Amino acid sequence: MKNYFDVLIIGGGASGLVCAIECANEHSVALLEATPKVGKKILVTGNGKCNLTNLDMSADKYNTDWVQDIVGEFSPAYIVDKFAQYGLCTKADDTRIYPHSESANSVLNVLLAMAKMNGVQIFGDTTAQSIRQANGMWQVTTNAQQYFCKNLVLATGSRATFGMSSYDLVSCFGHTTTRLFPALVPLKSKSIIGANGVRAKVSATLDIDGKKFAENGELLFKDGAISGILAFRMSSHIARASVRGYKSATMTIDFVPDMTESDLAQFIQDTYTPYIGILEGVLHKALAANIVRNTCMDRSLLMSQEKAEALAHTCKHYTAVIDGLGSLSNAQVVCGGLNLDEWDNHTLQSKKVANLWAMGEMLNVDGECGGYNLHWAWASALAVAKDINNAKNQ
Ligand SMILES: Cc1cc2nc3c(=O)[nH]c(=O)nc-3n(C[C@H](O)[C@H](O)[C@H](O)COP(=O)(O)OP(=O)(O)OC[C@H]3O[C@@H](n4cnc5c(N)ncnc54)[C@H](O)[C@@H]3O)c2cc1C
Repeated sequence: MKNYFDVLIIGGGASGLVCAIECANEHSVALLEATPKVGKKILVTGNGKCNLTNLDMSADKYNTDWVQDIVGEFSPAYIVDKFAQYGLCTKADDTRIYPHSESANSVLNVLLAMAKMNGVQIFGDTTAQSIRQANGMWQVTTNAQQYFCKNLVLATGSRATFGMSSYDLVSCFGHTTTRLFPALVPLKSKSIIGANGVRAKVSATLDIDGKKFAENGELLFKDGAISGILAFRMSSHIARASVRGYKSATMTIDFVPDMTESDLAQFIQDTYTPYIGILEGVLHKALAANIVRNTCMDRSLLMSQEKAEALAHTCKHYTAVIDGLGSLSNAQVVCGGLNLDEWDNHTLQSKKVANLWAMGEMLNVDGECGGYNLHWAWASALAVAKDINNAKNQ
């Protein structure tokens, strides 16, 4: 079996596939993937619909402005065009871009078709165990056989949801990895109970040691956790604060953002009847029960102005204590990764050893919910491919 290639890519995920396709126009390329099939994570993205990029793009959407030049050059429009060249029709939902089919399968299928057409050799069930460089050549030892190449690209992603961490592959060259935390993950909290599966569109303010982050969106309550897109977005702030080590986090939730507190108090007072649970005409029964339980008020059946005001206040300032982040197996991405100081922010080439690149989620780059992480995977892959292809043409 052939074991020498111009370009060898370790990791057959989103970034690995795009880099392989782009390099294969000019080079012999092999993709090594630890699991039997490439692109497994792509299939679960966006609840199976694959939110592949977002038109509202800037470095602010990431944990670091180190990404600025690459997400500037390989913009959402560039990515949409690139996928159109691959044969994928896309559509926008607000600023989020999805495949027109609304199926992540379509994304993976066009990538597989392009890889095949360009002659990329894919080796499944092949885990890279170690790498070494001798005489300008890379040698990659796997569970199956040894591979050799001139240009080596690392695209091994993170352990979020499933996957493995392979940061150690480059530690022997002096490359370091930051601390790792789950991000885009449910928040642990026992502050709302008995509301498993209930969703609410809210405004919320996360307070981490006095630093505040306000957002609107949907929360999904679970036993012992708060999930939903809004909680996922908040989890990124907590993950980043975890790197520094934070003391406490709370989320103040406004369950009725479309009414003022005084209008809400008036509504509660005017419409109160003992024949329906308090607030059940405003909120889901399970949320109403939590608010009533957490409001200091007299427990009589009468509704006073004072009581209505206290209830309205809790509805608009419900404090949930956040006990931490959910587990990596529930996370969409990892906050942390290969230390960015050690990689060139235009080419993604190692600053420590020649002809070695890293891209995608393996680097310490994580984006907000909404297509930003896949965007980074595609954009970083295009940056690496451009560098490798340019070197050949010089
Ligand atoms: C449930 C879920 C939903 C998501 N939804 C979205 C979304 O809608 N939009 C969005 O932008 N992002 C989303 N993401 C995040 C996005 O999927 C990832 O950021 C992106 O796939 C990362 O791409 P990657 O190429 O860096 O890594 P991956 O796609 O993780 O690929 C890495 C590959 O490397 C392989 N590998 C690891 N170590 C080795 C080794 N030693 N040898 C060989 N192979 C190895 C792994 O098996 C894996 O296949 C979601 C993630 C999850 C988990």
